[in-house]
Amino acid sequence: MNAQKVLEDLKRRFPNEPEYHQAVEEVLFTIEEEYNKHPEFDRVNLIERLCIPDRIYTFRVTWMDDNGKIQTNTGYRVQHNNVIGPYKGGIRFHSSVNLGILKFLAFEQTFKNSLTTLPMGGAKGGSDFSPRGKSSAEVMRFCQSFMLELARNIGPDTDVPAGDIGVGGREVGYMFGMYKKLTREFSGVLTGKGIEFGGSLIRPEATGYGNVYFLQEMLKTKGDSVEGKTVLISGSGNVAQYTAEKVLQLGGKVLTMSDSDGYIYDPDGIDRAKLDYIMELKNIYRGRIREYVDVYPTAKYVAGQKPWGEKADIALPSATQNEISEEAAQTLVQNGVIAVSEGANMPSTPGAIRVFQQAKILYAPGKAANAGGVSVSGLEMSQNSERLSWTAEEVDNRLHAIMENIHANCVRYGTESDGYVNYVKGANVAGFMKVAKAMMAQGVV
Ligand code: NDP
Repeated sequence: MNAQKVLEDLKRRFPNEPEYHQAVEEVLFTIEEEYNKHPEFDRVNLIERLCIPDRIYTFRVTWMDDNGKIQTNTGYRVQHNNVIGPYKGGIRFHSSVNLGILKFLAFEQTFKNSLTTLPMGGAKGGSDFSPRGKSSAEVMRFCQSFMLELARNIGPDTDVPAGDIGVGGREVGYMFGMYKKLTREFSGVLTGKGIEFGGSLIRPEATGYGNVYFLQEMLKTKGDSVEGKTVLISGSGNVAQYTAEKVLQLGGKVLTMSDSDGYIYDPDGIDRAKLDYIMELKNIYRGRIREYVDVYPTAKYVAGQKPWGEKADIALPSATQNEISEEAAQTLVQNGVIAVSEGANMPSTPGAIRVFQQAKILYAPGKAANAGGVSVSGLEMSQNSERLSWTAEEVDNRLHAIMENIHANCVRYGTESDGYVNYVKGANVAGFMKVAKAMMAQGVV
């Protein structure tokens, strides 16, 4: 394979999908060498079959707002690859959602799910519906209408969606209710469900905790730990909240959190009581992060900015894609950052990744570092299948073991001649080889 040629061809065939091109580019150039050691892959055009999704569903979602007006949005489900298990991946509700973004996420998910060691293929879905400012009744009507269409294309052994940006326990519950009504079946068709109806303990915590477990493993390679480190976190949603919780448990100091309007910086650190306030503010009152400074006036709120200009030891981006630009990465490195571990999907631009790797700091891409979320989703599927619930301790132990294993695989496939671990290469090659072998075994289908 010639990575450049494959990429150009995909760009020509699927224009106007820059995030998809970006995700594919990163993978192609890191697996090219390994891929070309296996001429049998090229004989069956494996790379094109791996880059292009198996199928894509697009549908109109019609719902009524609280004023009785009929609204329309576009819904999608991208089923990327199911060679190692049923399609699996979250649903995103955000005004920015489009096909290119969901194709990037479904592509990444395929490699991530492969890394988890659990039997899950890759998928992603969502809608350009924004829950921001909507009443709970509007969100419910939207979720029901979305599921009315999606239900035909998913199932516990076919495709198992979960949450992502804008989709948390509330939205998963509404979608599950509609699926159950339509199919008259109680099954593990979604993960991230409420604990009362088949959800797994530790699922809400899993992505954030998993990212910090991965960070711990990276720091261990330098004989270091989270204790006493200052940490920048972006976002204040599900991933950011539980990332902060685990950092606090391990003795780190969280300096920032953010939302799409700006960030807060607390020089005294966001401690347990302050994090409880943020969780209540965001999860119950659905408020904005700027309200933090009304309650804790020694902190500052910076509107319209991201937190990367602040000085700290560690950065854990946990909001959205391309939130760390090349310039922001340079600032982080100049300010002495020693590790960047991605809770969000593709938060660093290609330029930012180059800066981190050239500075030889510890840098973990999302597909490795945030795989804890889908891992516990996989464990939720196992519990649903055996109609049992495991204890929080059991799930957390398994999560920890999975993150250690992913780290070990990254080191195995990504260690360079000078000893530097290229976690991007390690994750891509390890994730790719398993999917490629399964594709070879299953023939050209
Ligand atoms: P949430 O919706 O719970 O939180 C998202 C947070 O990011 C909010 O604070 C939101 O602010 C902020 N945000 C969203 N879009 C933007 C934007 N364009 N610019 C700046 N800030 C933004 O989502 P999650 O915490 O679940 O997801 C966060 C990231 O983690 C995403 O990249 C997701 O794909 C990834 N991820 C999530 C997993 C999970 O299990 N939930 C698993 C693996 C990865 P606001 O409130 O203003 O919108």
